[in-house]
Amino acid sequence: MSPVADQRRVYLDGTAGLPTDPRVLEAMRPYFSERSGNPSSIHFFGREGRAALEAGRKSVGELVNAREPKEIVFTSCATESSNLAIKGLAQRNRSEGNHIVISQMEHMSVINTCKFLQKNGYEVTQVPPDKEGIMQLADIEKAMKKETLLVSVMWANNEIGTLQPMEEIGRLCAEKDVYFHSDAVAAAGRVPIDVQEAKVDLLSLSSNDIYGPKGVGALYVKEGTRLESILQGGGQERNLRSGSENIPGIVGFGAAADMMRAEMASETARLGVLRDKLVKGITSNIKETYLNGSATRRLPTNASIRFLYIEGESLILNLEMKGVAVSSGSACASKTLEPSHVLRCIGLAHEEAHGTLQFSLNRWTQEPDIDHVVAVLPEIVKRLRDMSPLTPDSLKDG
Ligand code: PMP
Repeated sequence: MSPVADQRRVYLDGTAGLPTDPRVLEAMRPYFSERSGNPSSIHFFGREGRAALEAGRKSVGELVNAREPKEIVFTSCATESSNLAIKGLAQRNRSEGNHIVISQMEHMSVINTCKFLQKNGYEVTQVPPDKEGIMQLADIEKAMKKETLLVSVMWANNEIGTLQPMEEIGRLCAEKDVYFHSDAVAAAGRVPIDVQEAKVDLLSLSSNDIYGPKGVGALYVKEGTRLESILQGGGQERNLRSGSENIPGIVGFGAAADMMRAEMASETARLGVLRDKLVKGITSNIKETYLNGSATRRLPTNASIRFLYIEGESLILNLEMKGVAVSSGSACASKTLEPSHVLRCIGLAHEEAHGTLQFSLNRWTQEPDIDHVVAVLPEIVKRLRDMSPLTPDSLKDG
């Protein structure tokens, strides 16, 4: 057998995509074939489809503690959910205000939706987090004005894993009578999410990020929130999202949500220990490596580490030769050469952002995987640093 085939393969790039859990796949299977009825049909096949749709809605609603299942609207992905939330709210409520406040560390699905609105007469203020990657309430409050319609702050950041003070932001928005949207893609199933406690009006979710299938997302829409649909068509999903429902996907999303709820406590404890072992194993064995973002207010599954004086891309390629898959900067945008906007907005220099690796652990990560990464990295880093033109002076632009 070739040495490469024999080698351990370690997947620590969960933010870029996750396998669908085999149990989820099993739950979905009949809905591709013998149970493929359209929920809008009135015959028994239709009733079967409708029951599956409503069961999925109930499960996803329970994951975020929605008051009622009908507050969940299924979409094709979290990007669509955030487009519907932000554009739908802005367009429907324009007479109440045209100003939107977002954090600077949002996913591009929020930032670019807001840029689109800016071209159409809305005003957007981007508020930076502190150096730890945490949003400060006073900064959000300062950015708000009488025209502010909406505040959008992600529950957890997908790159550096930091968790935001959702209940405080929710209280502030409620006091000021401003809508509150949150992208909870990275947080869902990893930390408890309670839309009622956090006084969230709109919340974006993605199935694949909780080991469900790709191609399905959801938007929690608090009862009474006025939204305009961004797709015109047959009026499915209470007129908010036209198009035939993706029943196998929704069944899978529901099964994944149930599993996340049942296993969250034990899994987050297990993965938190492994994540800490990884961070300690790297930062205490390799000089000038640092964890990005708060060490305490973070997801249990994530570690973003900067390796001074090296390019993240060279690290990725060298790690790949040792069977390890990770990403640099933003997993979603890692094809671009721009340094991650998230790493830049917490104050890192270009070179520090470029020298960052993002590790995201998943349900199948085991201790020997972490041991393998910790064992192979020092030699790779030494070799790359020996060849690197970067010096302490090159880090001074931040
Ligand atoms: N928000 C966050 C925080 C993400 O990590 C991602 C990508 N997984 C998205 C939004 C976009 O999700 P989707 O690919 O389902 O549109």
